[in-house]
Order: sequence, then C-alpha cells, then structure tokens
Amino acid sequence: MKRRPFIQKAALGSLALSSLPMFHISARKKQKDKLGFALVGLGSYAGGQLAPALQQTENCYLAGIVTGTPEKEGEWAEKYNIPQKNIYNYDNFDEIADNDDIDVVYVVLPNNMHAEYTIRALEAGKHVTSEKPMATSYADCVRMVEAAKKADRRLSIGYRLHYEPHNLEMMRIGQKKVYGDLNSIEANFGFPLRDKNRWRLDKEMSGGGPLMDVGIYCLQAAMYTSGELPLSVTSRNITIDEEFYKDVEGTLEFSLKFPSGVENRIETSYEKSYNDLTLKTSSHTIAMDPTYSYGGLKGTINGEPMNLPNINQQAAQMDAFAMNIMKGTACLVPGEMGARDMFIIDKIYEGMSTGKEMSLKGIPQIQHLV
Ligand code: NAD
Repeated sequence: MKRRPFIQKAALGSLALSSLPMFHISARKKQKDKLGFALVGLGSYAGGQLAPALQQTENCYLAGIVTGTPEKEGEWAEKYNIPQKNIYNYDNFDEIADNDDIDVVYVVLPNNMHAEYTIRALEAGKHVTSEKPMATSYADCVRMVEAAKKADRRLSIGYRLHYEPHNLEMMRIGQKKVYGDLNSIEANFGFPLRDKNRWRLDKEMSGGGPLMDVGIYCLQAAMYTSGELPLSVTSRNITIDEEFYKDVEGTLEFSLKFPSGVENRIETSYEKSYNDLTLKTSSHTIAMDPTYSYGGLKGTINGEPMNLPNINQQAAQMDAFAMNIMKGTACLVPGEMGARDMFIIDKIYEGMSTGKEMSLKGIPQIQHLV
C-alpha cells in the first residue's frame, strides 16, 4: 500500500519528461542495458581519456566515431572494434539519425564547433554530451538547451569533477558548513601554452584563453563549494607577456560577489602553472593540490590527508549520464549548468578590459549547483 503513491508519482514524472511520440523510442532504448556512445573529434582528449574510459564503463560503451581524418578511421576501428557502419565523417554526420547503435553523441571538438554539432546531434534524435566550455557564447548555449528541449533529448556537459571524490568532498564541506562558514575561497588553474598553432590560442575557435579552457573549473569550484550563485563579478587581465598573448588573455584574475559575502580570488593562466583550491573557515584550512587533473588528486584538512580514492573520472561521468538517460533521472551537469557558466564567462570578458564590476542580474537560476 505504501509504495503506491510513489509508483504513481514516478509514472507522472516520466510522462512529464517525455512527450508521447518519443515515449515509444525511450521504451525501446530502455531495454538496452548499455548505451552506445559516439565520439565526435578524435583529438587528444577523446583519444587519451574518453575512449580508454569507455573501456571501463558499465552502463555505456564506445559504439561509434566521427572524424574528418580518414587515417584515424582504420586505426580506431581496429583498436576499439568499431564496425564500419558506425564510422562517420563531418559530411555524412547527420545520417547518424538512422543508427540505433548510437544513443549518445559526445562532442569533443574545438570550442566554437560545440554548438553546431550538439544541435545537429540533437536534431538527429541523439542524447548529447558537449565538452566544456559548452560553447563560445551564452547565446549559443541557449540555442543548444532549446534544441535539446525541442528534440526531447538529454544534454549534459563534460564536467567530470562533479563525479570525483575529492571535489565532491570539497562541495560537501563548503555547502554543509562542516567546519563552519567559509571565510574565503581561492582557486588557481593554469599551465604554460605557447604553441601558436594550437586552436586554444585562436580566439575565434576557443572563444577566449585559459578562462575558457581551465579557469572554468575554478569558476565552478567557487560555486560548488560556496553553494551560491554570484551576484556580480570583477575581472582583470593580468597577462605578463602582452606581446605574445594578443588574441586571448595570457593570465586573468577575477572575484565573484556572493550573497554570503565569502571572499574569493580566482586566477587562470597560460603563463603560469598551478592547480589548487583552498577553503578557509575560522578554524580550518581545507586545501587541494592538484585539484582539477585527471588523477593523482590530493586534499588536506588542517594539513591532514583526506585519504580519498582517485577514480576514472571520465568513466564515472559517462556511466552516470547513461544511467540518467536509462532511468529518466536528473543529470548533475545538465546543459543549463554549462549555459549558466557561459553567462558568467561572457561578463568576465566584458568587464576584463575596464576592471568594472559587472552585474550578473539575469543569471540562469538552476537547481543543480553541485
Ligand atoms: P584537440 O585539438 O586535441 O582535438 C580536437 C579534435 O577536433 C581533433 O581531432 C581535430 O582533428 C578535430 N577538429 C575537427 N575540426 C577541426 C577544426 N576545424 N580545427 C581544429 N580541429 C578540428 O583538442 P582537445 O584537447 O581534445 O579538446 C577538445 C575539446 O575537449 C575542447 O572543447 C576542450 O575544452 C575539451 N577538453 C576537455 C577536457 C576535460 O577535462 N573535460 C580535457 C581536454 C579537453
């Protein structure tokens, strides 16, 4: 008797999530016990992290690839046992709509291509993960979210740290005030990048410098540890080698005004190396270094080690998204979260040259802070 209201509620929930014509498709896909992922863009992250991670996942597997480089087709097909019918290029990409092996398209292209391929994949009836940053402008993010709604498909962002034990612990400590109110948050992420041929230094392709690439993790950390959305942001371009970093910033600092008033300073750079996050309360210092890498993460509480495991973050992220789709549950890192972050990033860039405090009025209010 007690289970009945729950079952009724769950049934209502799933009806609300999907319109009736899509229900038949969802029902068919739900019979699968693993979802097929197709990686779009076989560069360093797809080849170095995502494809190997997909060999360790439980709820999904590498079913297909999309590449503009014919030599990669045979190499990947052999290495990962991918049938020819699941290999696409950028011209025949839309035919993926007819391929039932592929449930999720994972866009791992340069930043300015995320919006186009995400929307095309959604229109082809696929669920999508877009790598971070979600796009190169907030306006594009809005188009992507709208496309997901229209297609009744799920859209997530490649925010792997929301599945990583140390970062989850930092979220818990900050949000639950485990050691009291946070007095300050400091986050820095940067690495030297001087190769001019890299798309990351081309503003049109990247949308910006280290903020788009790695500073976005620090921006997220400030929100997921404070558990708050910022009211305004003040930013400053503090590039050292202005001659070299003309197109995109070399180093940038910013600070967010939160409702609680927690102090914070964030720095991101293609000129310096750092990878840390420090939270301070009146009694405790909780620190991570490295914080945002794929592995080897370390955290301390007043100098004592956290002793948490390092896991395959990408496998955890993709398994969770596959499970969200199969079970119809909420994703921790939905497209709306990527859009929220781009809303702030657009303002950081707008204010960077003048150093003026930029209001974040109108910031998308989303449930999922963590
Ligand atoms: P990369 O340059 O190594 O790979 C990009 C891929 O896109 C290459 O295979 C390239 O051939 C392909 N491509 C297609 N059209 C292209 C074009 N017009 N110009 C350039 N390349 C083109 O880059 P990457 O490091 O793999 O990054 C890809 C995306 O993944 C970026 O959005 C990046 O921010 C993101 N990323 C995320 C993480 C993470 O931890 N979540 C880590 C690394 C990269």
